[in-house]
Amino acid sequence: MHVVRSREQARRARAGLGSVGFVPTMGFLHDGHLSLVEVAGRGHDAVAVSIFVNPTQFGPGEDFAAYPRDLDRDLAVLESAGVDLVWVPDVADIYPRGAATRVTVDGPIASVLEGASRPGHFDGVATVVTILLGVLAPTGLVLGAKDAQQVTVLRSVVRDLGLDVELIVGPTWREPDGLAMSSRNIYLTEPERAAAPVLRRALAEAEARYAAGLRDAALMRSVVRELVRAEPLAELDYVSVADPDTLAELEWIDDTTQLVDPERKGRGAALVSLAARFGRARLLDNVTLGA
Ligand code: AMP
Repeated sequence: MHVVRSREQARRARAGLGSVGFVPTMGFLHDGHLSLVEVAGRGHDAVAVSIFVNPTQFGPGEDFAAYPRDLDRDLAVLESAGVDLVWVPDVADIYPRGAATRVTVDGPIASVLEGASRPGHFDGVATVVTILLGVLAPTGLVLGAKDAQQVTVLRSVVRDLGLDVELIVGPTWREPDGLAMSSRNIYLTEPERAAAPVLRRALAEAEARYAAGLRDAALMRSVVRELVRAEPLAELDYVSVADPDTLAELEWIDDTTQLVDPERKGRGAALVSLAARFGRARLLDNVTLGA
Protein backbone atom coordinates (compact mmCIF):
# COMPACT_ATOMS: atom_id res chain seq x y z
CA MET A 1 0.00 0.00 0.00
CA HIS A 2 1.42 3.39 -1.03
CA VAL A 3 0.90 6.08 1.59
CA VAL A 4 1.62 9.50 0.14
CA ARG A 5 1.46 13.12 1.28
CA SER A 6 2.16 15.61 -1.52
CA ARG A 7 0.25 16.10 -4.76
CA GLU A 8 3.34 15.03 -6.71
CA GLN A 9 3.70 11.76 -4.78
CA ALA A 10 -0.01 11.09 -5.18
CA ARG A 11 0.13 11.68 -8.93
CA ARG A 12 3.14 9.40 -9.31
CA ALA A 13 1.69 6.59 -7.17
CA ARG A 14 -1.60 6.74 -9.08
CA ALA A 15 0.13 6.56 -12.47
CA GLY A 16 0.93 2.85 -12.21
CA LEU A 17 -2.50 1.71 -11.07
CA GLY A 18 -4.74 1.28 -14.13
CA SER A 19 -8.42 1.96 -13.42
CA VAL A 20 -8.96 3.37 -9.94
CA GLY A 21 -12.01 3.50 -7.66
CA PHE A 22 -11.55 6.46 -5.30
CA VAL A 23 -13.08 6.92 -1.84
CA PRO A 24 -12.58 10.39 -0.30
CA THR A 25 -12.86 10.42 3.51
CA MET A 26 -12.09 12.51 6.58
CA GLY A 27 -10.63 9.46 8.34
CA PHE A 28 -11.55 7.90 11.71
CA LEU A 29 -12.77 5.08 9.55
CA HIS A 30 -15.68 2.76 10.30
CA ASP A 31 -17.36 -0.11 8.48
CA GLY A 32 -19.37 2.35 6.34
CA HIS A 33 -16.13 3.68 4.85
CA LEU A 34 -14.85 0.11 4.38
CA SER A 35 -18.03 -0.86 2.55
CA LEU A 36 -17.21 1.92 0.05
CA VAL A 37 -13.68 0.56 -0.29
CA GLU A 38 -15.23 -2.77 -1.22
CA VAL A 39 -17.57 -1.12 -3.74
CA ALA A 40 -14.57 0.73 -5.21
CA GLY A 41 -12.68 -2.54 -5.60
CA ARG A 42 -15.42 -4.07 -7.72
CA GLY A 43 -14.84 -3.20 -11.34
CA HIS A 44 -11.57 -1.31 -10.87
CA ASP A 45 -7.95 -2.48 -10.96
CA ALA A 46 -7.09 -0.54 -7.79
CA VAL A 47 -8.56 1.40 -4.87
CA ALA A 48 -7.41 4.81 -3.67
CA VAL A 49 -8.56 6.45 -0.43
CA SER A 50 -7.90 9.96 0.78
CA ILE A 51 -7.89 10.96 4.43
CA PHE A 52 -8.23 14.71 4.86
CA VAL A 53 -10.21 16.69 7.40
CA ASN A 54 -11.01 19.54 5.04
CA PRO A 55 -11.01 22.88 6.87
CA THR A 56 -12.98 24.71 4.16
CA GLN A 57 -16.09 22.58 4.66
CA PHE A 58 -16.34 23.46 8.36
CA GLY A 59 -17.96 26.72 9.48
CA PRO A 60 -16.75 28.91 12.33
CA GLY A 61 -17.67 27.29 15.64
CA GLU A 62 -18.02 23.81 14.06
CA ASP A 63 -15.97 20.79 15.10
CA PHE A 64 -12.94 21.06 12.76
CA ALA A 65 -10.40 21.07 15.62
CA ALA A 66 -12.27 18.41 17.62
CA TYR A 67 -13.02 16.11 14.66
CA PRO A 68 -11.75 12.63 15.66
CA ARG A 69 -8.49 11.52 14.10
CA ASP A 70 -6.56 8.21 14.32
CA LEU A 71 -4.25 7.90 11.34
CA ASP A 72 -2.31 4.82 12.53
CA ARG A 73 -5.49 2.84 12.98
CA ASP A 74 -6.94 4.07 9.69
CA LEU A 75 -3.82 3.00 7.78
CA ALA A 76 -3.80 -0.45 9.41
CA VAL A 77 -7.47 -0.94 8.53
CA LEU A 78 -6.98 0.18 4.92
CA GLU A 79 -3.92 -2.04 4.55
CA SER A 80 -5.88 -5.12 5.62
CA ALA A 81 -8.70 -4.11 3.28
CA GLY A 82 -6.22 -4.35 0.40
CA VAL A 83 -6.24 -0.64 -0.53
CA ASP A 84 -3.52 0.28 -3.04
CA LEU A 85 -3.05 3.99 -2.44
CA VAL A 86 -3.78 6.22 0.53
CA TRP A 87 -3.34 9.95 0.13
CA VAL A 88 -3.00 11.84 3.42
CA PRO A 89 -2.37 15.42 2.38
CA ASP A 90 -1.54 18.29 4.70
CA VAL A 91 -3.69 21.41 4.47
CA ALA A 92 -0.84 23.12 2.55
CA ASP A 93 -0.77 20.29 -0.04
CA ILE A 94 -4.42 20.91 -0.86
CA TYR A 95 -4.47 24.70 -0.38
CA PRO A 96 -0.94 25.87 -1.22
CA ARG A 97 0.01 29.45 -0.36
CA GLY A 98 -1.58 31.78 -2.88
CA ALA A 99 -4.31 29.33 -3.91
CA ALA A 100 -7.06 31.55 -5.32
CA THR A 101 -9.48 29.14 -6.98
CA ARG A 102 -12.64 27.82 -5.40
CA VAL A 103 -15.52 25.80 -6.74
CA THR A 104 -18.87 27.29 -5.77
CA VAL A 105 -22.20 25.60 -6.24
CA ASP A 106 -25.15 27.94 -6.76
CA GLY A 107 -28.82 27.32 -6.34
CA PRO A 108 -30.99 25.33 -4.01
CA ILE A 109 -29.12 22.02 -4.14
CA ALA A 110 -26.30 23.59 -2.12
CA SER A 111 -28.24 26.12 -0.08
CA VAL A 112 -31.10 24.05 1.39
CA LEU A 113 -30.93 21.48 4.21
CA GLU A 114 -27.25 21.01 5.18
CA GLY A 115 -26.38 24.10 3.13
CA ALA A 116 -28.84 26.19 5.14
CA SER A 117 -27.48 24.94 8.46
CA ARG A 118 -23.85 25.07 7.29
CA PRO A 119 -23.35 28.03 4.90
CA GLY A 120 -20.38 27.49 2.58
CA HIS A 121 -20.14 23.79 3.46
CA PHE A 122 -20.77 22.48 -0.04
CA ASP A 123 -18.41 24.99 -1.66
CA GLY A 124 -15.71 23.51 0.60
CA VAL A 125 -16.74 19.97 -0.37
CA ALA A 126 -16.90 20.82 -4.10
CA THR A 127 -13.50 22.54 -3.99
CA VAL A 128 -11.64 19.77 -2.18
CA VAL A 129 -13.19 16.96 -4.22
CA THR A 130 -12.37 18.78 -7.48
CA ILE A 131 -8.73 19.08 -6.36
CA LEU A 132 -8.56 15.43 -5.26
CA LEU A 133 -10.08 14.30 -8.58
CA GLY A 134 -7.72 16.54 -10.54
CA VAL A 135 -4.64 15.00 -8.93
CA LEU A 136 -5.74 11.37 -8.76
CA ALA A 137 -7.74 11.18 -11.99
CA PRO A 138 -9.72 8.18 -10.75
CA THR A 139 -12.06 6.17 -12.95
CA GLY A 140 -14.83 6.00 -10.32
CA LEU A 141 -15.72 8.33 -7.44
CA VAL A 142 -17.38 6.29 -4.68
CA LEU A 143 -19.66 8.14 -2.25
CA GLY A 144 -21.97 7.02 0.56
CA ALA A 145 -25.76 7.39 0.34
CA LYS A 146 -25.57 8.47 4.00
CA ASP A 147 -24.64 11.99 2.81
CA ALA A 148 -27.35 12.23 0.17
CA GLN A 149 -27.10 15.96 -0.44
CA GLN A 150 -23.34 15.62 -0.91
CA VAL A 151 -24.06 13.06 -3.63
CA THR A 152 -26.53 15.44 -5.32
CA VAL A 153 -24.08 18.35 -5.16
CA LEU A 154 -21.11 16.32 -6.43
CA ARG A 155 -23.20 14.80 -9.22
CA SER A 156 -23.83 18.35 -10.36
CA VAL A 157 -20.13 19.33 -10.02
CA VAL A 158 -19.06 16.34 -12.13
CA ARG A 159 -21.66 17.14 -14.78
CA ASP A 160 -21.20 20.94 -14.83
CA LEU A 161 -17.39 20.84 -14.99
CA GLY A 162 -17.36 17.91 -17.42
CA LEU A 163 -15.19 15.80 -15.13
CA ASP A 164 -14.33 12.41 -16.56
CA VAL A 165 -15.29 10.22 -13.62
CA GLU A 166 -18.14 7.82 -12.91
CA LEU A 167 -20.08 8.56 -9.73
CA ILE A 168 -20.89 5.41 -7.76
CA VAL A 169 -23.08 5.45 -4.63
CA GLY A 170 -22.79 2.81 -1.88
CA PRO A 171 -25.58 2.11 0.63
CA THR A 172 -25.65 3.42 4.22
CA TRP A 173 -24.09 1.08 6.78
CA ARG A 174 -25.71 0.89 10.17
CA GLU A 175 -25.09 -0.34 13.70
CA PRO A 176 -27.25 -3.34 14.69
CA ASP A 177 -29.82 -1.00 16.31
CA GLY A 178 -30.16 1.01 13.10
CA LEU A 179 -27.97 4.03 13.88
CA ALA A 180 -26.13 5.08 10.73
CA MET A 181 -22.38 4.68 11.22
CA SER A 182 -20.59 8.01 11.48
CA SER A 183 -17.22 9.18 12.77
CA ARG A 184 -19.20 11.71 14.84
CA ASN A 185 -21.03 8.95 16.79
CA ILE A 186 -17.98 9.01 19.09
CA TYR A 187 -19.29 12.34 20.47
CA LEU A 188 -22.43 10.64 21.86
CA THR A 189 -22.75 10.09 25.61
CA GLU A 190 -24.29 6.77 26.67
CA PRO A 191 -27.87 8.10 26.98
CA GLU A 192 -27.52 9.98 23.69
CA ARG A 193 -26.22 6.85 21.98
CA ALA A 194 -29.24 4.94 23.30
CA ALA A 195 -31.58 7.66 21.98
CA ALA A 196 -29.98 8.17 18.54
CA PRO A 197 -31.61 5.18 16.74
CA VAL A 198 -34.86 7.18 16.85
CA LEU A 199 -33.67 8.72 13.57
CA ARG A 200 -33.67 5.37 11.80
CA ARG A 201 -36.98 4.39 13.41
CA ALA A 202 -38.59 7.61 12.17
CA LEU A 203 -37.31 6.95 8.63
CA ALA A 204 -38.49 3.34 8.82
CA GLU A 205 -41.94 4.67 9.66
CA ALA A 206 -41.76 6.85 6.53
CA GLU A 207 -40.93 3.73 4.50
CA ALA A 208 -43.84 1.84 6.08
CA ARG A 209 -46.29 4.70 5.43
CA TYR A 210 -45.08 4.96 1.85
CA ALA A 211 -45.58 1.22 1.39
CA ALA A 212 -49.08 1.63 2.80
CA GLY A 213 -49.86 4.29 0.19
CA LEU A 214 -49.10 7.64 1.87
CA ARG A 215 -48.11 10.16 -0.84
CA ASP A 216 -48.89 13.50 0.87
CA ALA A 217 -45.40 14.89 1.54
CA ALA A 218 -46.48 17.36 4.26
CA LEU A 219 -48.11 14.54 6.16
CA MET A 220 -44.99 12.39 5.68
CA ARG A 221 -42.81 15.21 7.08
CA SER A 222 -45.03 15.57 10.13
CA VAL A 223 -45.07 11.81 10.82
CA VAL A 224 -41.25 11.76 10.86
CA ARG A 225 -40.95 15.06 12.76
CA GLU A 226 -43.27 13.94 15.55
CA LEU A 227 -41.41 10.67 16.08
CA VAL A 228 -38.07 12.47 16.44
CA ARG A 229 -39.58 15.21 18.63
CA ALA A 230 -40.88 12.56 21.03
CA GLU A 231 -37.24 11.82 21.94
CA PRO A 232 -36.20 14.38 24.56
CA LEU A 233 -32.46 14.08 23.82
CA ALA A 234 -32.95 14.85 20.11
CA GLU A 235 -32.90 18.46 18.98
CA LEU A 236 -34.37 18.32 15.50
CA ASP A 237 -32.86 20.56 12.82
CA TYR A 238 -34.94 19.60 9.76
CA VAL A 239 -37.05 16.89 8.17
CA SER A 240 -37.26 17.04 4.39
CA VAL A 241 -39.26 15.12 1.80
CA ALA A 242 -37.70 16.32 -1.43
CA ASP A 243 -37.11 15.57 -5.07
CA PRO A 244 -33.88 13.47 -5.10
CA ASP A 245 -32.36 15.53 -7.96
CA THR A 246 -33.40 19.11 -7.24
CA LEU A 247 -33.91 18.78 -3.46
CA ALA A 248 -37.05 20.90 -3.88
CA GLU A 249 -39.58 20.07 -1.15
CA LEU A 250 -42.43 17.99 -2.53
CA GLU A 251 -46.14 18.42 -2.00
CA TRP A 252 -46.90 15.02 -3.41
CA ILE A 253 -44.68 11.95 -3.82
CA ASP A 254 -45.09 11.06 -7.47
CA ASP A 255 -43.72 7.56 -8.07
CA THR A 256 -44.19 7.78 -11.82
CA THR A 257 -41.48 10.45 -12.49
CA GLN A 258 -38.65 7.97 -12.62
CA LEU A 259 -40.60 5.72 -14.95
CA VAL A 260 -40.95 8.47 -17.57
CA ASP A 261 -37.46 9.99 -17.11
CA PRO A 262 -34.69 7.42 -17.72
CA GLU A 263 -32.09 9.85 -16.25
CA ARG A 264 -33.76 9.40 -12.88
CA LYS A 265 -33.98 5.64 -12.94
CA GLY A 266 -33.04 4.13 -9.59
CA ARG A 267 -32.90 7.50 -7.82
CA GLY A 268 -36.38 7.06 -6.33
CA ALA A 269 -39.49 9.20 -6.01
CA ALA A 270 -38.53 11.09 -2.84
CA LEU A 271 -35.56 11.58 -0.59
CA VAL A 272 -36.59 11.74 3.07
CA SER A 273 -33.72 13.28 5.00
CA LEU A 274 -33.23 14.67 8.46
CA ALA A 275 -30.65 16.17 10.79
CA ALA A 276 -30.75 16.31 14.55
CA ARG A 277 -28.40 17.22 17.33
CA PHE A 278 -27.80 14.88 20.28
CA GLY A 279 -25.60 16.89 22.66
CA ARG A 280 -22.35 17.64 20.77
CA ALA A 281 -23.16 15.35 17.84
CA ARG A 282 -25.08 16.57 14.81
CA LEU A 283 -26.33 13.43 13.05
CA LEU A 284 -27.79 12.95 9.58
CA ASP A 285 -29.79 10.14 8.07
CA ASN A 286 -32.01 9.58 5.07
CA VAL A 287 -33.99 7.07 3.10
CA THR A 288 -35.06 7.01 -0.53
CA LEU A 289 -38.68 6.12 -1.21
CA GLY A 290 -39.73 4.30 -4.33
CA ALA A 291 -36.26 3.41 -5.64
P1 AMP B 1 -16.62 11.20 5.84
O1 AMP B 1 -15.35 10.57 6.31
O2 AMP B 1 -17.66 11.36 6.89
O3 AMP B 1 -16.36 12.48 5.05
O4 AMP B 1 -17.27 10.20 4.79
C1 AMP B 1 -16.55 9.73 3.69
C2 AMP B 1 -17.48 8.95 2.79
O5 AMP B 1 -18.04 7.86 3.50
C3 AMP B 1 -18.66 9.79 2.28
O6 AMP B 1 -18.93 9.45 0.93
C4 AMP B 1 -19.78 9.35 3.19
O7 AMP B 1 -21.06 9.49 2.61
C5 AMP B 1 -19.44 7.89 3.39
N1 AMP B 1 -20.06 7.36 4.60
C6 AMP B 1 -20.07 7.92 5.84
N2 AMP B 1 -20.80 7.17 6.68
C7 AMP B 1 -21.28 6.12 5.97
C8 AMP B 1 -22.12 5.00 6.27
N3 AMP B 1 -22.62 4.81 7.50
N4 AMP B 1 -22.40 4.12 5.28
C9 AMP B 1 -21.92 4.31 4.03
N5 AMP B 1 -21.12 5.34 3.68
C10 AMP B 1 -20.81 6.24 4.63
